[in-house]
Amino acid sequence: MKEISSSEFEKEVLAGGKVVLDFYSTECPPCEAVAPKFEGLATLYGKEVKFLKMFRQQNKPLAESLGVRSSPTLLFFDNGVQSPVSLSGGIKRSDIIRQLDHMLPQERVQEIKKEIKPTVSEFDVLILGAGPGGLTAGLYLCQSKVNTVLVDIALPGGQVSTTHEVSNYPGFIDPQPGYMLSHNMSEQTKQCGTIYKVAVDVTKVDLEKKEVVIDEFETIKAKKIIIATGTSPNLMGIPGEKEMKGKGISYCATCDAKYYGDKEVVVIGGGNSAVEEADFISRFASKITMVHQFDALTANKQAQEKLLANPKINVLFSHEPRSFIREGDKLITEVENLKTKSLTKLSGDGVFVFIGMKPNIDLFRDKLELDNWGYIKTNEDMQTSMPGIYAVGDVISKKYRQITTAVADGTIAAIAIAKELN
Ligand SMILES: Cc1cc2nc3c(=O)[nH]c(=O)nc-3n(C[C@H](O)[C@H](O)[C@H](O)COP(=O)(O)OP(=O)(O)OC[C@H]3O[C@@H](n4cnc5c(N)ncnc54)[C@H](O)[C@@H]3O)c2cc1C
Repeated sequence: MKEISSSEFEKEVLAGGKVVLDFYSTECPPCEAVAPKFEGLATLYGKEVKFLKMFRQQNKPLAESLGVRSSPTLLFFDNGVQSPVSLSGGIKRSDIIRQLDHMLPQERVQEIKKEIKPTVSEFDVLILGAGPGGLTAGLYLCQSKVNTVLVDIALPGGQVSTTHEVSNYPGFIDPQPGYMLSHNMSEQTKQCGTIYKVAVDVTKVDLEKKEVVIDEFETIKAKKIIIATGTSPNLMGIPGEKEMKGKGISYCATCDAKYYGDKEVVVIGGGNSAVEEADFISRFASKITMVHQFDALTANKQAQEKLLANPKINVLFSHEPRSFIREGDKLITEVENLKTKSLTKLSGDGVFVFIGMKPNIDLFRDKLELDNWGYIKTNEDMQTSMPGIYAVGDVISKKYRQITTAVADGTIAAIAIAKELN
């Protein structure tokens, strides 16, 4: 692997052959996350593909002319022709492999796969999920000199990193941009010395053996495992949702309703959480249109009565959202009347979606005791039903899911584990 500058670009990249070029920056956690993957793949694919690095800050004009807007960005070239596919952000090893495999004949790809050597490493504690719960556990364990590894399928930070502003995390007078708060949490834990394996594919989780396989070849063994995988909102899965998630479309009223003072919002859903959250949002918003797919709300009677008596809230029954469109300052929700099939556009300042959350437990669903909603049951030390397996944060069975409660869970689990290991 070689570091080049703009002046060498023509000779090293455009002159021919297969090339992957990593534009990196300093003080860039995602660049640090991709570097070992890039190096490892250079060893595997190095005979066929040239692996090059370029410092983006010092080669800005070239980077910009190639469409590079952030670090890291990986560009692929075949005989001097740039591939339309580039990779940036939390780049996974499997993402890079996919691109490299496209560039090579199938037989060679098969041969390379056979050269991959499985690795095994051992830690005292493995934390699955680097959101506030996992990061806090990592910090406390590291400060107790417990050898800990944090594994996440994405970059560290969890849901906070995609939250616009956080105004209820103690210690900050002004609201903090979510990405800054999560960045600070992550750096604090990393600087302590916790090992990070982030933006990886978690291939297998064996809770009985306390082993996790990442990127298909790397086995990590631990004495204890902390599950801190959080939840994911059930998404509508319609056009515009992905693009406007966190930029007008929210899944958390406690977090975001306050930004809609005297504004008009659309609330999607009709169950208990949608009805209760709509009532909460009405403390701020001037008008709420609820969109519900059925003829009647499915929330409990008391909550329904309160909602229907609320003069700020109007419910559109038998309607379903079909798309979200940005029109200037306004966020348009296009809804379909399920009876007449006609489409209507609802104009508003924001949209809240409450069609349920799901705990991220797919890899170990059958192994642990869960509550009726699929959340992991724990005791007061955050221990699950399986010895040596702890769980913290939004993924556990509890009433209130906030950053402060996740951080508290992480603290408790880490202290309990550190004491036990001692
Ligand atoms: C839009 C929004 C705004 C919010 N605003 C606020 C607010 O203002 N104040 C507040 O207190 N709370 C807020 N919350 C709630 C808060 O973000 C959560 O309570 C908190 O992040 C929970 O932390 P956690 O560590 O349990 O999980 P998460 O933050 O969800 O982190 C879980 C981590 O696990 C990773 N992961 C998932 N599956 C796997 C796997 N199989 N293997 C490895 N890693 C995995 C994820 O990539 C993620 O990084 C908000 C939530 C949302 C969605």
